[in-house]
Amino acid sequence: MMPGLTVDNCPRCGAIFNKNLRNLCPNCMKQMDDMLEVCESYLLRHDKATTEQLQQATGVPMDVIMKFIKEERKLSTKFYPNLTYPCEKCGRGIREARICAKCGTELLEAFRPARPAEPIPQPSADSVSGIVFTNNGDCPLQRGSFSCRIRRQLQEV
Ligand SMILES: [Zn+2]
Ligand SMILES: [Zn+2]
Repeated sequence: MMPGLTVDNCPRCGAIFNKNLRNLCPNCMKQMDDMLEVCESYLLRHDKATTEQLQQATGVPMDVIMKFIKEERKLSTKFYPNLTYPCEKCGRGIREARICAKCGTELLEAFRPARPAEPIPQPSADSVSGIVFTNNGDCPLQRGSFSCRIRRQLQEV
C-alpha cells in the first residue's frame, strides 16, 4: 500500500478504497444505498412504523438504520412520526437532539453550582480613605449604592 492520504481502509468491510466524503468503499456505499432504498420503500407504505418494526420488516441492521436516521438524516423523524433513535445517555427512544429531555435536565442540574455564587464583595467605605460618604444619595440610577455615594460626594465637592 502506498503511503498517502487518499486511500483508507473502509470502516465497514476493511477494503482499501479511495477516500471520499461518505468514508465508505464503493461496494459498501452501494450496499448502504440499497438498504436505504429498502427502508424508504417500506416507510412509503408504513409511515407510522416504529424503528423496531422497520428493522424487523426490512432486515436492515439496527446500527445501519440508526446511521440513516441520526447521522445521515436520510430517514427523517419529521416525516416518520414513530422513528426514534436512542438517547446517548439512557437509551430511551428520542426524535431530536442527542439526549432525551430527562437526561438534558439532569445534565443541567449537574452543571449548576451546588451553592449559590458568593456575592461579589463590595468595597467598604473604610477601604477608601479621604472620601466622606453620604448615605442617602439620590442618584437616579443606583440609589444608595457605593458608586452613587461616591458620585454624589464628588458632585458636592
Ligand atoms: Zn466497504
Ligand atoms: Zn436519556
